[in-house]
Parts: sequence; C-alpha cells; structure tokens
Amino acid sequence: VLTLEGVWKNFHGHSVLRGIDLEVRPHEVVSLIGASGSGKSTLLRCVNLLETVDDGAIYLDGEEITDPRVDVDGVRKRLGIVFQAFNLFPHMTVLDNITLAPRQVHGVPKARAEEEAYGLLARFGLAQKANAYPDQLSGGQQQRVAIIRALATQPRLMLLDEVTSALDPELVLEVLGIIRELKESGMTMILTTHEMGFCRDISDTVCFLDGGVLLEKGPPEQIFTEPEHARTREFLRSVL
Ligand code: ATP
Ligand code: MG
Repeated sequence: VLTLEGVWKNFHGHSVLRGIDLEVRPHEVVSLIGASGSGKSTLLRCVNLLETVDDGAIYLDGEEITDPRVDVDGVRKRLGIVFQAFNLFPHMTVLDNITLAPRQVHGVPKARAEEEAYGLLARFGLAQKANAYPDQLSGGQQQRVAIIRALATQPRLMLLDEVTSALDPELVLEVLGIIRELKESGMTMILTTHEMGFCRDISDTVCFLDGGVLLEKGPPEQIFTEPEHARTREFLRSVL
C-alpha cells in the first residue's frame, strides 16, 4: 500500500527524519514508537503531504506522492487521518461531521452518506448520538466519532497519531476497541502510540524511531522481548 524510500525531513537545518525506509503491506498494522521528538508525527505528516520531504520518495499504491506534480487532494482522499486532539466541527452534529467529506469531497448523495454514517455509528455503538453535538459527548465518544469520520470516506490507509493520549484512562479502552475492530476488518493502519501494551497487542510490525532514524523494526514479540539495539532496550525500559 505504502512505501517510503530514504525519506529525509529537515527543519531549520536540523534533520528530523533521516533516511526512513518503510513498507506497509495491505491489511498491515504498523506502529511507530520512540521518544518524544523522535519524528513519529512528522513521518505521518509527510505521508499525508502536510510536510514536503527533503529527500527520498513516498509511494501510495505505486504512485509517487512526493512528486511535486501530484494531486494532493486526490492523495488525501485515499487517507483517513485522526490526530490526538479531536478535530470535530463543534457547530455540526455527529451525523453532519461524518457525512461532510463523503458528500463534499467525494460527491456521495446525502441520503446514501447518511445511511452509511448510521451504519458506522451502529457498528461502533454510537447510533444514539447521531444528532448530538461534539460537546455533548465524552472525550472517548468524540474520538470514536473522529475515527468514524475518517472511515466514512473508505480510506486505503488510516493514519492515527496518538489517538488516545488526550483521554482519561477509562476512555482509552473504548478507543482502543474501535482500532482493534478496524484491524479485524482488514484496515491498513500506521499508528503512533505511547500505549505499549496496546501496541504489542495490535501491531503486525513495530518501528522504533530514534532521533529520526528507523533504528529497528520487527514483529512486536521481537521488539518487546529481544530488541537488537541498546537504544531500543533503553527506551522500552523507560516506558514499560
Ligand atoms: P511526540 O511523541 O512528542 O509526539 P514525535 O515523535 O511525534 O514526538 P515530531 O512531532 O515528529 O516528534 O517532532 C520531531 C522533531 O521535529 C522535534 O524535534 C520537533 O521539535 C521538530 N518539528 C516538528 N515539526 C516542526 C516544525 N513545523 N518546525 C520545526 N520543527 C519541527
Ligand atoms: Mg507526535
């Protein structure tokens, strides 16, 4: 689905991503872990074309999306993105939040967009909340709506940046539940997380970023039990 080849990103002469090579296969769940500032969010922002890369290339379904002539909106249409802070539109109901992009960006007729939105809400236990406004929902519910909204456009790939870190612990579980269900439905995902238990549980591949270098990657059993690098061991000791 996605390939990164030698991706470099600099900010003010400082390299934040240093030659990242990464391949994400269909249905694969890839987690990015690493200390604060190691470049996890920047990597997702490069995939989403919120940042331009300084060297290297990124391919989505074989198309080079880092080509300056690429259709940026066309690329973003194929991605579902959810960030830490829920970015729901406060003046719109849950239903309108979810149907906005399908209707306006993808040209889906209102009735069909709403039918699909109700289906998603029911699937994730939020059917009762279709006509609520975001401030009438708990943080966990808001984040679940943000995930549903990203799903509503049937993305090829979901990018989830610390989607649980703004939540109280008891709300984290409901959001993790929806991500687990997405995995079971075969969604391809790249996520960043500080929840190591969840990361271990859900990931097919875990990538450890250290100062913008993808130092180590492998199945969770390997990364969490026998990491190759001392830096990885040190990081895991500090967070587990
Ligand atoms: P966290 O775990 O805290 O979310 P992260 O791994 O997501 O950290 P990034 O947000 O990718 O880290 O940041 C990597 C580095 O790039 C940091 O040193 C950060 O200060 C820097 N950086 C990120 N965005 C910018 C920007 N727009 N301008 C300048 N520096 C930036
Ligand atoms: Mg980040």
